[in-house]
Amino acid sequence: MRIELRFCKHCFEGEHENAHKTAVTRDLVACARTVKQYKDVIDLDDVHLRSIREDEEDDGRPAAIPAVAATIQNEQVTVSDTQLVTMGENGYMLVYPNPADALKVLAGNVDEISKVAGEDIVPELSPESAEILADKSAGENDEYPTPDAGEGAPDPDEMPDTAPDKMGASGPLPDAVSDIVDDKYK
Ligand SMILES: [Zn+2]
Repeated sequence: MRIELRFCKHCFEGEHENAHKTAVTRDLVACARTVKQYKDVIDLDDVHLRSIREDEEDDGRPAAIPAVAATIQNEQVTVSDTQLVTMGENGYMLVYPNPADALKVLAGNVDEISKVAGEDIVPELSPESAEILADKSAGENDEYPTPDAGEGAPDPDEMPDTAPDKMGASGPLPDAVSDIVDDKYK
C-alpha cells in the first residue's frame, strides 16, 4: 500500500489561526513521519508527505497518488487542503478529506507498527488529537460529522477540521490537476 498525506502548510505553521486544526495537522504530520520511518515493518511501499501552500504556484496537485478530494463551494471546485490518500495493491484509492479520519488511519498504522516491531513508537499527540482518537462514536459526533451528516449538520464555523480552507486551487478544476488526471487515465 502507498500513502500520501497532503496537509495545509499554513495550518501546520499556525498561520490559519485555527489552533485546533494546527494541533491536529501537526499530529497528522508526526504520525505520517513515524509511519514513513517504519514503513518496511508493515510492508508499505511508500509514504509521501506533501505540504500544500496557498499561493499561485501551488495548485494542490498530488505528489504520489493521483486522487484529489474536492468540494463545491460557491459553485466552484475547491480542493481540500488537508487529505490523506491511500492506494492498495489492487489499485483502489481511498481519499480521507476529513482530518479526524486521516488521523485515525495514520494512528492505526502507528499502532500496527508498534505491535509488529514490539516497541512503542507512538509520537506524542496533542490533547485535541487524543480526543479524536478516543472517540469511538465517530459519525454520531456533531464535531466531526461524516460527509452524509445531512440535515442537522452543524454550522460550518463550528467544524474547524472539516471545512476546507480555501487555497490557490479554488475555481474551475486547475489545468494541472486535469492534466494529471488525463495522463493517468488515458
Ligand atoms: Zn490551513
